[in-house]
Amino acid sequence: MNTGIHLPTLLMLSVALNVLIGALLWWIYHLRGQQPCFRLWALACAAFAGGSLLAAARELVDAPFVTGFVALAFLGLSPLLVLMGLQSFARLPLRRQRLFRRAALGAFAVYLLLIGATFLPAPTLSRGVTALFSALVFSIAVYRLSVIATQIQLPVRVLQVLFTVHGILMMSQALVITVDFLGSGVPGLDTLLRVILINHILLATGTALALPLMAFSVSENRLRALAERDSLTGLYNRRSVLREGARAFSKARAGNSALAVLMLDLDHFKRINDQWGHSIGDEVLRFVARTLEDELRDNDIVGRVGGEEFIAVLPLAPGEDFTHIANRLLGAISRHGSEIRGRHMALSASLGGILMSPKHRSLADMLQEADIALYTAKNKGRNRAEFPENTEQPAVV
Ligand code: GH3
Ligand code: MG
Ligand code: MG
Repeated sequence: MNTGIHLPTLLMLSVALNVLIGALLWWIYHLRGQQPCFRLWALACAAFAGGSLLAAARELVDAPFVTGFVALAFLGLSPLLVLMGLQSFARLPLRRQRLFRRAALGAFAVYLLLIGATFLPAPTLSRGVTALFSALVFSIAVYRLSVIATQIQLPVRVLQVLFTVHGILMMSQALVITVDFLGSGVPGLDTLLRVILINHILLATGTALALPLMAFSVSENRLRALAERDSLTGLYNRRSVLREGARAFSKARAGNSALAVLMLDLDHFKRINDQWGHSIGDEVLRFVARTLEDELRDNDIVGRVGGEEFIAVLPLAPGEDFTHIANRLLGAISRHGSEIRGRHMALSASLGGILMSPKHRSLADMLQEADIALYTAKNKGRNRAEFPENTEQPAVV
C-alpha cells in the first residue's frame, strides 16, 4: 500500500509547525503573566519537534543512543508535558497539583528505564513502549479535560477527540509491534507503521493548534463573565440587563408579542446591614438573586442594577398573567427569606411591574413607568407589587 505522502516532507513540515506553535505558546506565556500551562505546552512542542528530528536522523547517522534513546525520551516527554499543562490549566488545589507532578515524574522515570532497557537489544520494542506510554497519557488527558468541559464545550470536545484517536493509534502501534516482536509477524509491518506515524504527526500538530484555542476560549469566557455579570450575585449587571432587555423589547415589538418589565427593590435593606452586618447583607442579596433565577424562566432576563435593586424583563406567552409571576416572586422572597444563615429576619421586597403597550417606544419608557410603580409600592407600605392600572389586566395577544 502506498500512502502517497512524502514522509520526510511531512516530518519537516510538522517539525516547523511545532517549532512555530511552541514559540507562539512561549510568547503567550510571557504575555499572560507567566501562566505555567503555556510554558509546559511550549516545551511539549519543542520536545516533539526535537524527538522527531532525532528519530529521523536515525537513517543518516549511526548514533543509536541519541537517535534511539534520547529521541524516544523526548517523544514520550511531549504528551506528558501536554498533560501537565492541562493539569495546571484546570486550576486544581495546590496539594493535588504537587501530588500529580510527583506521580508524573515517577512514571517518566519508569518509562526511561523501560526504553533504556530495550532500545539497544530491541529498538522496535522501545518504540512500542513509547506508544504504550503515550496512549496511557492521552487517556488520562481525556479524563482531565472532562473537568474543564463544564466551562467550555467545543474546544474541549475537539481536544478529547484528538487525544482519544491518538491514544487508540498509539495502542495499535504498541500492539502491532508486540505481535511482530513475539514472532507472529505482521504482514506489511513497515507500511502499517508508516501510516501510524503519518497520523501521529498530524494528530500531534492538531493538538498543538487546539491547546491555545482552548485556553483562549476559557479566558474569553472568564473575561466576558467579568464584563457582563455582577460579581456578587452572578446575575447580569446593569449594562447587560439593559442591553438584553432592549433586544427582547425589539423582538416582542417585531413579533407583536407581550413583554413585561419588573423592577424590584428590597425593603429596609439598610436596616439588615445595620443589624446583621454587611456580609449577611451580601448573603441576602445572593439569596434574592437565586430566588429570582429559580422562580423565573430561562428566557427571562434578570439583573442586579443597583445596591439592592433588580430588574426582570419577561417575554410572555399569549394571555399569560405577569402580575401573578410578580406576586409569586415577592411571596418566595418573604417566605424563604425569613431565615438566612440562621438569622431570623423579616425580609421583603417591593415591586413595580409594567406590561408593554403601543405607547412605549423603548425599554427605557417601560422602566420609567415601572420605577414610578415601585415608588408607589414603597409609599403604600412596602412588601407589595404595584402595576399601573391600565396594565393590571394582561393583554391577550
Ligand atoms: P427602602 O425600603 O426604602 O428601599 O429602604 P432601603 O434601606 O432598602 O434603601 P436605601 O436606599 O436607604 O438603602 C440601600 C442600602 O443598600 C444602603 C447600602 O448600604 C446597601 N447596599 C448597597 N449595595 C450593597 C451591597 O453590595 N452589599 C450590601 N450588603 N449592602 C449594599
Ligand atoms: Mg431598598
Ligand atoms: Mg434601593
